[in-house]
Amino acid sequence: MMDNFQVCDRDLDTATLERYQKADYVAVDTETMGLVVGRDRLCLIQICDPEGFVTAIPVAPGQTNAPNLKTLMEAPGTEKIFHFARFDLAQLQHTFGIQTQPVFCTKIASKLARTYTGSHGLKSLVQELSGIELDKSAQCSDWGNPDNLSPEQLRYAANDVRYLIELRTKLTAMLQREDRWALTQQCFDCLPTIVNLDLLRFKDVFEHH
Ligand code: MN
Repeated sequence: MMDNFQVCDRDLDTATLERYQKADYVAVDTETMGLVVGRDRLCLIQICDPEGFVTAIPVAPGQTNAPNLKTLMEAPGTEKIFHFARFDLAQLQHTFGIQTQPVFCTKIASKLARTYTGSHGLKSLVQELSGIELDKSAQCSDWGNPDNLSPEQLRYAANDVRYLIELRTKLTAMLQREDRWALTQQCFDCLPTIVNLDLLRFKDVFEHH
């Protein structure tokens, strides 16, 4: 199959947990049945370390814990990099009771750094900052049987985490250049609060109306 890629059923194995915990940061993404947390279940979690070693974790329907994954996601010494962390954090908290931290979100970083464009999707970001054309054709596919994913789905799932670490480096440099790095970190620090509000279905509590 792919190089630098493994599948760990239901949870990270202990050796891989130890490997990832030694990293300063890892990239993380999830695939789900849809975008509504609470209705659409979590199907797959993908993790990539700075060496590009990707693990895909298929989740069983009704599965409510993944202790090694929880240890990694809550490990204070390993930053977790997401694209649109708000959704993945809510899904991980809802499914496994995981409170992910510390977090870097490439979508928030892009919005604060790349004010010259309105395109903050992963495909646009990877295109501009890494010069690579991502194939997103498997994005809206059926992830509901994650023990039997197609090679195309596995390749797509791995690619969704492979570029996040490079994006983090490039976006951080842009944010420092524009003197917006402190504000960006404040946004990341707010994410647990926003996720808690999302899970309780609160909308616009910061608005006047
Ligand atoms: Mn994805």
